[in-house]
Amino acid sequence: MREYLKFYIDGQWVDAAQSQTFDVVNPATEQVAGRVALGSAADVDRAVAAARRAFPAWAASDRQERLDLLRRILDAYQRRIGDLGNALTEEMGAPRELANGFQVNLGIGHLTTTIDVLEKFVFEEQRGATRIVKDPIGVCGLITPWNWPISLIAVKVFPALATGCTMVLKPSEQSPFSGQVFAEILDEAGVPAGVFNLVQGDGPGVGRALSGHPDVDLISFTGSTRAGIDIAANAASGVKRVSQELGGKSPNIVLDDADFAANVGKGVGTMMLNSGQTCSAPSRMLVPSERMEEAIGVAREAAAQVTVGDPQGDSAIGPVVSGAQFEKVQALIQKGIDEGATLVAGGTGRPDGLGTGYFVKPTVFADVKNDMTIAREEIFGPVLTILGYDSVDHAVEIANDTEYGLAGFVAGADLDEARSVALRIRAGSVAINDAFDFSAPFGGYKKSGNGREWGEFGFDDFLEIKGVLGYS
Ligand code: NAD
Repeated sequence: MREYLKFYIDGQWVDAAQSQTFDVVNPATEQVAGRVALGSAADVDRAVAAARRAFPAWAASDRQERLDLLRRILDAYQRRIGDLGNALTEEMGAPRELANGFQVNLGIGHLTTTIDVLEKFVFEEQRGATRIVKDPIGVCGLITPWNWPISLIAVKVFPALATGCTMVLKPSEQSPFSGQVFAEILDEAGVPAGVFNLVQGDGPGVGRALSGHPDVDLISFTGSTRAGIDIAANAASGVKRVSQELGGKSPNIVLDDADFAANVGKGVGTMMLNSGQTCSAPSRMLVPSERMEEAIGVAREAAAQVTVGDPQGDSAIGPVVSGAQFEKVQALIQKGIDEGATLVAGGTGRPDGLGTGYFVKPTVFADVKNDMTIAREEIFGPVLTILGYDSVDHAVEIANDTEYGLAGFVAGADLDEARSVALRIRAGSVAINDAFDFSAPFGGYKKSGNGREWGEFGFDDFLEIKGVLGYS
């Protein structure tokens, strides 16, 4: 049983202003796995004040000082990989291999990318008689979700540090353990007092106190579109910058000349990863209509290979994060059946032999129409929809017929065609044939958000741009 009763503020582990706590339930066992102090507006005030005091010195720090800190963090982070992985498994049910591997390594990827970018980043340049200067924006409120908790903290904290900002982090109340270990790592690495602060708590309490705080200059938020809208509204009166990384319903277009079986199979596996709780998950697979039967055969087999079970064991996927999420996913699966989609694999109810824990059957629907609820709503569970298209133009039309625009995927052998399709998808990042790049921008069009993270693009949100005219 974990107990985290202190917050990290001004370089110290301090008691919360009030004595309330909240429980964290392990979604695989449905048992309480730990107790965490519940923050309040008073803790946010204290953390923001510490960040404000630390800002002038950190903003004035030079590139080398920031690089040194980031490299010390890398060392400390690497020493604590096992602790981070265990925290993730307990709080949100990621299987050990995924938690200790992919989840934790994404954080390292963001850190090493931040170091590479910082080594060369141009903070000042001369254009004629004008000096263009990029200044740190100030005190940042970082609000993160539970689904890839560590990498989504990493992708904010490291660029914020690299650009000379100070910050208050509020991890999700459903995944506070990894946030706490993360703060220990920064403390071990010797982050200067007040530069990084951690307050735990929920959205209505700590999240709203941060987004409405008069002395916070930027809110960088990752989470649901619903919360993103509330945060932007709450931040508006203070004219804060708000960067939002929100939900998605990403298309995965399998072109006719793609290695069909391989790509349909991979598409199923990628959708199921992390129990489908990935903002950029390829949740709408688009295949040529005349090959729907073929796709169904491959998808059924691929789904059958996705083992579900105890995240401490070697199953491919664990549970979804909570009872509420389990109920939501069940209702959406039922909705898919009711609306007439063809159930190819999975369905409602728990997988055989798993009576306890929020486990969901890897589920695939085919013959899905894009106006069905399961094609429109972000399910955030291991549920894939397969839709048919009649031409490449039709595929692009379906791909873009969504209120979201976070990611897209295109598979095809003719690269000219794959490229042209990728360019027509209205989303912040589109991968051709499974390409992956830590330095590519990541973020949303439409209701998937605004602002960009990853690589040098992730620096921009944390910077003010100033023109100094007559600087010659
Ligand atoms: P959520 O919006 O419920 O919570 C996210 C964070 O916001 C939590 O820390 C929560 O406490 C806080 N919060 C909630 N309401 C708030 C409010 N009114 N004011 C201030 N803070 C508030 O999201 P979640 O359920 O934790 O995460 C799942 C969502 O996140 C999905 O929609 C997913 O697509 C999205 N997501 C997006 C990305 C991306 O990069 N675009 C990445 C991962 C997850």
